[in-house]
Amino acid sequence: MKAYLDNSASTMVAKEAIQEMRKYNESMYGNASSLHYMGEEARVELEKARKVIAESIKAKPKEIIFTSGGTESDNLAIRGIVKAGKKKHIITSTIEHPAVLETCKNLKKEGCKVSYIKVNKEGIVDIKKLKRAINKNTALVTIMHANNEIGTIQPIEEIAEICNEYKVPFHTDAVQSYTKVPINVEKITAMTLSAHKIHGPKGVGVLYLKQGTPFKPLFSGGHHESGKRPGTENVAGAVGMAVAASLGPNVKKIEMLRDHLIKRVLKEIPGTMLNGSKDSRLCNNANISFKGIEGESIMVHLSMKGICVSTGSACSSMSLEPSHVLLAMGLKHEEAHGSIRFSISRYSTKPEVDYAINELKKIVKTLRRISPLSK
Ligand SMILES: *Cc1c(COP(=O)(O)O)cnc(C)c1O
Repeated sequence: MKAYLDNSASTMVAKEAIQEMRKYNESMYGNASSLHYMGEEARVELEKARKVIAESIKAKPKEIIFTSGGTESDNLAIRGIVKAGKKKHIITSTIEHPAVLETCKNLKKEGCKVSYIKVNKEGIVDIKKLKRAINKNTALVTIMHANNEIGTIQPIEEIAEICNEYKVPFHTDAVQSYTKVPINVEKITAMTLSAHKIHGPKGVGVLYLKQGTPFKPLFSGGHHESGKRPGTENVAGAVGMAVAASLGPNVKKIEMLRDHLIKRVLKEIPGTMLNGSKDSRLCNNANISFKGIEGESIMVHLSMKGICVSTGSACSSMSLEPSHVLLAMGLKHEEAHGSIRFSISRYSTKPEVDYAINELKKIVKTLRRISPLSK
């Protein structure tokens, strides 16, 4: 048996999306900028996809810029907005995705000032501190909607209100929350989305950018995406993303399976603890610490049984540093090292989840017997 419980890292592409995408590779392969009928055909479909995604977040189609994914959208939003003006202060949080943290770090090297807002034990950003950090030189606030490691949902409506009050642009990375939590971009300046986290293809994403926002593109090239992101449009990718977005996640089922997993693990395995807020949390995420053992060992043993999970985020799991998110929440090094992220999708099943828990129980027992840490 197999169990794929790593849907925050990537997801199975929906059959409906694959079926639609085939057309644009096999027969409707015209360049969407070409003036002949095949270009027109592709352009019409691209604009249909743009409209579907715009409607899903209550934006206008012209505010949707297709990109190569979440990483590019984060880079484009932060650099594009900061570089468009003279202000040089950025506010972010300590638990952002590397695409945001590294971009801020690089801008710091280029002369910007960066304030990192801390989170509480639950992994939620401190709004009061955020408000106090804003000053006359603040060019941008960038705070994620839902965290990729612990699934906590940040109060972005409140943050947007504050930013509007102080007239500071607000960007949010909504890659993990998109389709799972309703979003209205009315008060948001820029937002990042990615297709492969919602059962769409890899290598395509969206930057929502509010009309009229001063913006400096990163790339030079043609006039694609209203000049904000040049490069021949990935029509198949955009269509695949739109189909995936309109399928929706089936939140109730995901939440039920996730709660079943948390309940069984915490009850049946001693020395376990759920990380992150219980209530303000994405429906699909369970991040659990196992006392006295390393998350990496658990992950490798689960993998040998056909079960996929993550330690920290996939982007940082190649390094042996404990998760920056768990450390920011105040976990000790050994607690952060012993954590596993389980993430469910609309295609997960109860037998799959139960198989994973049963194997996990055996693995934890064996590892604790041989681990020097647990003595
Ligand atoms: C996956 C992810 C990204 C990066 O998206 P890609 O499309 O893989 O580049 C950015 N932010 C968050 C929160 C993510 O989970």
